[in-house]
Amino acid sequence: MESTLKRTWAEIDLDALAHNYRVLCSRMGPGSRFLGVVKADAYGHGAIQVARTLEELGAACLAVSSLDEARELRSAGVRLPVLQLGITPPEQTDQLLELGVTQTVWSEEAAMAFSREAVRLGKRIKVHIKLDTGMSRLGFPCDEARFAQSAEAVTRSCALPGLEAEGIFTHFSVSDEDDPDSRAYTLLQYERFTTMIRALESRGVRFALRHCANSGAVAGYPRFGGDLFRAGILSYGAGEQAEALGLRPVMALKTVVGAVRELPPDAAVSYGRIYRTTGPCRVGVLPIGYADGLHRSLSNCWRVWTPYGTAPILGRICMDMCMVNLTALPQLREGGEVEVYGPHNSVNEAARLAGTIAYELTCAVSRRVARVYRRGGREVARELLLR
Ligand SMILES: *Cc1c(COP(=O)(O)O)cnc(C)c1O
Repeated sequence: MESTLKRTWAEIDLDALAHNYRVLCSRMGPGSRFLGVVKADAYGHGAIQVARTLEELGAACLAVSSLDEARELRSAGVRLPVLQLGITPPEQTDQLLELGVTQTVWSEEAAMAFSREAVRLGKRIKVHIKLDTGMSRLGFPCDEARFAQSAEAVTRSCALPGLEAEGIFTHFSVSDEDDPDSRAYTLLQYERFTTMIRALESRGVRFALRHCANSGAVAGYPRFGGDLFRAGILSYGAGEQAEALGLRPVMALKTVVGAVRELPPDAAVSYGRIYRTTGPCRVGVLPIGYADGLHRSLSNCWRVWTPYGTAPILGRICMDMCMVNLTALPQLREGGEVEVYGPHNSVNEAARLAGTIAYELTCAVSRRVARVYRRGGREVARELLLR
């Protein structure tokens, strides 16, 4: 761990997480509670520490995307309700029950299978019904042609003896895009969602927890409210709308200048020789590469932030290292810290340059990178996932 901390690490600012929690809750109003999306190791930030912090802050529940992620939270003593957003094989219903995890039900066949297993075990399993209002991923289809059929199927599903249908939800596919076509599509999805809920209510099927707002909707359609909101990326202070909402980046990916080299003019730097020095060049070798999560597509185009200015990445990013230009930053020596992304160096901008989204960059920070948790200006925990 000590050795890793002198190499490359991710600082996780739990005060920024708390700040974002409060900003998002006040944006959504008291009727809509915070559902903490901690799938994918909390988007690379570390699910256990993020979950514990959200639990303390008063979040209503957490969401994961696999049974093993739910087990990790329970093993760490996290007691909040946990919603499994993804597919669990119904034969693992015993584990869902044992861990006290709420399962998403995406079809009548799935509902019957979960109910059958729960009944066999002499129990009832808590579920949230998933509606497909236009994402075409999981859920009972709510387009006009299949609406009536789905209303019947959800009604039958909710009456199954092994299920306790606590919630109902849907997911938007373009709520984070604000061209007119995307806005119309999001409004259509919302209309299908609320119409289905009304149709079910008229059949006497009611849900305690109705939710639809992901980060895009929290930013662009706060009036969609719901009993819960599921702002994943925004709670980590990343994503296109984070800055405008006054949110703070939770992760700072940092590394150090491992070695300094003086290169002559016309030296070819790194694999593929895609960068050549134009004059004498002071180059820093950083112990971070694509195996740490620094996407190779950022080769020759990203830069690291330092207290003296930014240092452009030169040439290809290697598996474990990359090179930066320190010619203009003579103050930066071996051992000096640099920020790969974080509060000074926007992960959103890196994502745009890499042709991807911030989610993929924070999720990519690998298990070789220690997480250092900070709160109130000091370090409160460290984790390294290397076995
Ligand atoms: C991942 C996920 C979210 C969170 O999405 P963000 O864009 O990060 O806010 C919300 N709902 C579901 C169903 C998800 O799978």
